[in-house]
Amino acid sequence: MKAAHRKESGQQMEKLRKTVNRLWDRVPHYREKMERAGVGPTDIRSPEDLGKLPFTTKQDLRDAYPFGLLACDREELLRVHASSGTTGKMTIVAYTKNDLDAWKDCMANCLSIAGVTPGDTLQVMFGYGLFTGGLGFHYGGEHLGATVIPSGTGFTERQIQLMQDLGSTAIACTPSYAVHLSEVLASKREGQPGPGHSLKVAILGAEPWTEALRQTVQAGLGVPALDIFGLSEVMGPGVAIECPRQDGLHLNEEHFMAEIIDPVSGELLPDGEEGELVLTTLTKEALPLIRYRTRDLTRIIPGRCACGRDGIRIARIRGRSDDMLIIKGVNVFPTQVEAALGKVEGLSMNYALEVSEHRFVKDLAVSVESVSSLGELQMERLEREAVRALHEALGLRVAVKVLLPGSLERFEGKAKRVRVTSGA
Ligand SMILES: [Zn+2]
Repeated sequence: MKAAHRKESGQQMEKLRKTVNRLWDRVPHYREKMERAGVGPTDIRSPEDLGKLPFTTKQDLRDAYPFGLLACDREELLRVHASSGTTGKMTIVAYTKNDLDAWKDCMANCLSIAGVTPGDTLQVMFGYGLFTGGLGFHYGGEHLGATVIPSGTGFTERQIQLMQDLGSTAIACTPSYAVHLSEVLASKREGQPGPGHSLKVAILGAEPWTEALRQTVQAGLGVPALDIFGLSEVMGPGVAIECPRQDGLHLNEEHFMAEIIDPVSGELLPDGEEGELVLTTLTKEALPLIRYRTRDLTRIIPGRCACGRDGIRIARIRGRSDDMLIIKGVNVFPTQVEAALGKVEGLSMNYALEVSEHRFVKDLAVSVESVSSLGELQMERLEREAVRALHEALGLRVAVKVLLPGSLERFEGKAKRVRVTSGA
């Protein structure tokens, strides 16, 4: 099977060569890395040659803070965003005028694939500020010709009022916030007919989420929930998005090349095999990235999508290799826990993971809310079912506590579901 980046496209190759030249000429760090790898711009003649180039890592970006990897003049920058990352130092992402235009195009294209059209009203419930989510959707929506409501995060009652009064047809937020929003909406509308909104789609991203969570959001809001993917380091949201077929995310190939590698050996993997997503930017001027290791685990879905688009699709992100927990020697992704909980009827998608450590061995406990208020016996039954589902999914016995609805913290931005406590 052919590997991801082997797509014959003269345009893509031209853009790749330009990007490599730009970095070679303007960024000493990249030039040194390429020289160490024994590769230069003239060696990049076919898509296969991408594999000769060295990887770029999050650490490269941290070491270069703030502008060490800049491939344009400082005066050409129109905007800067920053990513705090889950661990360690901030990293900066910077944009020239052309970079901002390309981002707008990417986002408008994504929104259009999701079915948003000019005249739609897009309510952006992502954070505005250093985080790329809010402004990314904002300018993409305007560029497409939609009416954008920059409502930002939180203030759920007000979000719902805006949604109803202004007739929002699309919302953008994190999946966990969409769950919360649908719960509040349901409690306000108890006994009233109709959904209480004019939405036709919810576009969700910025954290890994499962099919189980998708079903919860779709049942709660009554509209399709589509997955959008991006990361601040390469641009922000808009790298890839699902179409209404919900069968993988279409990559914006005008601006990005994707590879899937074995996260340990760094070897390229064939289409269909799961590994780490590696992205190369094709049009960026300020901070082009060659073979950026995203840490996100996914695979290339071979073949053409039922929607008719034939470009590269990536599967929904299963998790970040950084998020992987090692519980009693077993690798566990939070999304696996979410998927297992989703199989138990009566459990909600509001859950939290607590990792404790005792003598260097980590243990996991899960708290999850029930959908409705239940008696003690029913709660215990749900707990037993959840323990069984988790054992089946992970091969581990995990303690589960089922809580009444509303017991756990709700999140306005990215959910923080994992808490680590250290024992003796
Ligand atoms: Zn499609």
